[in-house]
Formats: sequence, structure tokens, C-alpha cells
Amino acid sequence: MSSRLERHSGRIVWSVVVAAGRGDRFGGPKQFADLDGRPVAAWAVDACRRVSDGVVLVVPPGTTAVKGISVDRLVDGGASRSESVRRGLAGVPEQADVIVVHDAARPRAPERLFEAVIAEVIAGADAAVPAVAVSDTLKAVAADGLVLSTIDRSGLVAVQTPQAFRAGALRAAHGSAPDATDDAALVEVGGGRVVVVDGDPANLKITTAQDLATVRRGQGQGRLRIGHGFDVHRWAEESRPLILGGVEIEYDRGLEGHSDADAVCHAVADSLLGAAGLGDLGRHFPDDDERWRGIRSTMILEEVARMSALAGWAPISVDVTVVAEAPRLAPHVDAMTARLTAILGAPVSVKATRAEGLGALGRSEGLAAWAVALLSDA
Ligand code: MG
Repeated sequence: MSSRLERHSGRIVWSVVVAAGRGDRFGGPKQFADLDGRPVAAWAVDACRRVSDGVVLVVPPGTTAVKGISVDRLVDGGASRSESVRRGLAGVPEQADVIVVHDAARPRAPERLFEAVIAEVIAGADAAVPAVAVSDTLKAVAADGLVLSTIDRSGLVAVQTPQAFRAGALRAAHGSAPDATDDAALVEVGGGRVVVVDGDPANLKITTAQDLATVRRGQGQGRLRIGHGFDVHRWAEESRPLILGGVEIEYDRGLEGHSDADAVCHAVADSLLGAAGLGDLGRHFPDDDERWRGIRSTMILEEVARMSALAGWAPISVDVTVVAEAPRLAPHVDAMTARLTAILGAPVSVKATRAEGLGALGRSEGLAAWAVALLSDA
């Protein structure tokens, strides 16, 4: 890979990371909330470090250090975002050619965004900003909530950070101490040439606690747990329906069991309990408890899904293998998959195979199912 100076044609690049917000909508300074073991702002600072010769971090006034973050300069923020950027700018050395301004609350901006905006400035733009198409319909709304009009969104884009500036253009734009939520807007007003590059929809700005959860989930930052489940049932002597994965399957035999003997549901439920650390099916639905006699196992599975959700664990996916010599289950696999996926609200895959005449399953003394579940607490 080429060196930073080569990539930037010898230009000196500094970044200003704005982390001075109070986080009113978040209920605290969201830029210092934990994201995968580090403050949100640390990820933004790291991204700037990779593309810059120096980084200025603008923090709430009185902050002397932020655990887990090291920068070249720590600067007190002002009363408005623009004021904070100006104070950050004052900390950028005069010899900087390009200045990147980035929100600390955007921890997932990819490096290519930084390089793209910097490249546009090096190529001659006064400013370059990442932008994404607006996909939602936009409406102008009065203070009382009444819709005034629908805005034509063609030609409209939503702008993100990092934004890059010719240092002189940004300093000049801030010269008269203006106020704006977006620095590129100040350059535009001054007649500067501002270009857009393709933004990234995943480059979310964390404003609410929900945004933080989305960023964690999007990056797979929630904890993951895997669980395994197994169940086996004999064929019943008496006539019983055969129910597997919540689907009634036409066959001349059914399985022996206290409930409806749906071994597929039982294996899946056991895998969920295992992943959520909640013990096993026998502990929650003992087969000497009359309450569970003849119960549909889809209800057991629904209850187990609810228990794991209460414990903070949601399924990401479940994979099941059923082993039976007979009947032929392939024609029923899609129906079982659909039923279980609907119950769990997550993709379940069901596969069926035979035991090739080997052992008890091969002698068709019964039927068994194995399941593996992946759960997340994000
Ligand atoms: Mg069972």
C-alpha cells in the first residue's frame, strides 16, 4: 500500500473530530457510550488517524482526557457545533493543506469515505461531502403536526461526515463566526465549490439509544451464543398422528411421547434454551407434569422463544437435521421450515436424511432430530 503522504500527493491532512455534544436526545454524551468495549468517539478518532497526519478532538468543556482515546490535541468545545468546529480549527497547525471534519457519533465511517473526500479536495474542490440518496418521502410539517406539503425528493441527498476541506476555504468560511449544522454549507454560502461523493448507508450517526443498538447489531457487536439440541422418540404402539416441525405428516405411525412428540420442535427448543443458558426442555416442561400432556409442541417452542427473549437473547438462525428411515420427509421440509421460521421470526432451515439402515434409527425404531441455534443479545 502507498504511504499516506503519497496517497495525498504530499499534502498535509489534519482531522477535527467533534465530540462536544451533550446528547440531549440520547440522555447523555452518546459519543462516549460504550461500543464494543471502547467509547463511540474512539472509533471515529481511529478512522481519522488512519488518514491524517494529526487529529484534534473537540470535547465537552472541562474534559481533560477520554479513556481509550489518544489524540494530538484535546480542545474544549463551544456552545454550538460551529463554535466547536472553530475551536478545533484553531488547534490545527497552519501548515495543514486539507482539513477533515468528522462527527464523533459516526463510529462506522469506512476508510474509503475519508479517502474519497480527501481525494476530491486534492483534485481541486473547496469541499467534498459524502451523500446518500433520500429514500423516504419527505414532508414539510407545521409545528402543530399538520402536513403542509410533500417535498419532491428527486435531486435531494442526505449528507454525512467525514467532510474534507481545502484548509483555506474552511478557515475563511468560519471567519465571520457563522452558525450551521454542516460545515460544507458555510463553504457553499461563500461561493466555494462543494462536491459530493457516494456516502455509506451504514455510516449511521448515533443520536438515540436505538441508533447505538442498530450500530452494534449492524456490526455484529452484540454477544453471540450457540446452542445445541437433540431429541429422539420411538414410534408409538398405538395410533397417533405424526407431527414434525409443527406440520402434520400423513403416515401410518406416530411417535410416542407425553406431548405431541414433535421431536423437531423439541430439538429446536432445546437448542434455544442451551444458547440462552436456560437449562433444558425437561426442566421447564417435565413429562410427569399433567399440564403438558398432549400439548402441541409449537406452543412449547413459542414459550421457549419468549423465555429466551426475556433473558435478552434473540435467534439469528437455527439449523435442524431430522433423521428417519421412513416416511420420506423431503416433501414436508419446506412446510416445516416455513412453520418454524414464522414461530421464531428468524430463518430456520430444516434438512432430512436417512440413517442408511444403521443402528436403532436405521432399523426404524424411532426418529431423531438435531438442532443448532445462534442467538444474539444485540
Ligand atoms: Mg421430545
